[in-house]
Amino acid sequence: MNYLDRFSLAGKRAIVTGGARGIGLEICRALGQAGAAIILADLDEQAAHSAAETLAAEGLEVGYRTIDVTSSADVTALGDELNAERPVDILVNNAGVGPKAEALDTPDEVWSKTMNVNSDAPFWCSRAFGRHMTARGSGSIVNIGSMCGLIVTQPQNNTCYIASKGALHMMTKSLACAWAKFNVRVNAVAPGYIATDMLDRFKTDNAVWYERWIEQTPLGRMGTPQEIASAVLYLASDASSFCTGTILSADGGYTSL
Ligand code: NAD
Repeated sequence: MNYLDRFSLAGKRAIVTGGARGIGLEICRALGQAGAAIILADLDEQAAHSAAETLAAEGLEVGYRTIDVTSSADVTALGDELNAERPVDILVNNAGVGPKAEALDTPDEVWSKTMNVNSDAPFWCSRAFGRHMTARGSGSIVNIGSMCGLIVTQPQNNTCYIASKGALHMMTKSLACAWAKFNVRVNAVAPGYIATDMLDRFKTDNAVWYERWIEQTPLGRMGTPQEIASAVLYLASDASSFCTGTILSADGGYTSL
């Protein structure tokens, strides 16, 4: 056995939601470098277009779609359309939002939007693409959860985000058990604090928190999108062929404390 071959995605096709920036863009790059044809799906048309151009200039096979993954109807139509062209082997549910909201000050619409993007949409996408994977008898789904779906983080105890990621982790385990008989694996990565736009705004909005997150992380720094993309590559590929229902922490040791 050649162990490096087990990470190869040559001949595979992958869709990455929220692929236009941050962790999602780096996941597109990692899966593309491993040989997969990439469909980058994002709400932000301009960012998606420019990200796809950047990856194509690097020699990767990439197309993009502008979509709001909270629309169950649009996601279902996209799943049918793409699979009619050519099977989609890998789905990465990465699109997410991270509002700052104390429980007593959380407006209904912030709660609903967070649940819609972070936990409803990954189910709509898993159902839309999983329908074709289960029928074909192969596929790999990777959800981007969070250490906030495993523990309550401090000082920001962000109830709507924590609840949405906890739901995503349990959805991962439930689908893993339901679809194991179809040879469709469902796993998740649970990142710690990662330097992207989602957290960068805290550098100015709340520098005390930002510094504290770094101090609280045993490895003593923020993670990078590349470090999350590597974990996704492992779970998406045959290298993890006996893993399903796994929540893989990539958090610099944060949840070990
Ligand atoms: P980001 O804000 O930098 O990028 C998110 C992307 O998702 C954007 O391109 C955005 O346009 C897209 N998106 C948002 N809503 C969408 C929708 N309804 N439909 C389609 N696309 C949509 O975020 P990031 O930091 O790269 O985070 C990516 C994922 O990782 C999220 O699920 C997030 O919760 C998770 N995560 C991030 C961190 C972190 O520290 N950055 C930590 C743990 C988990």
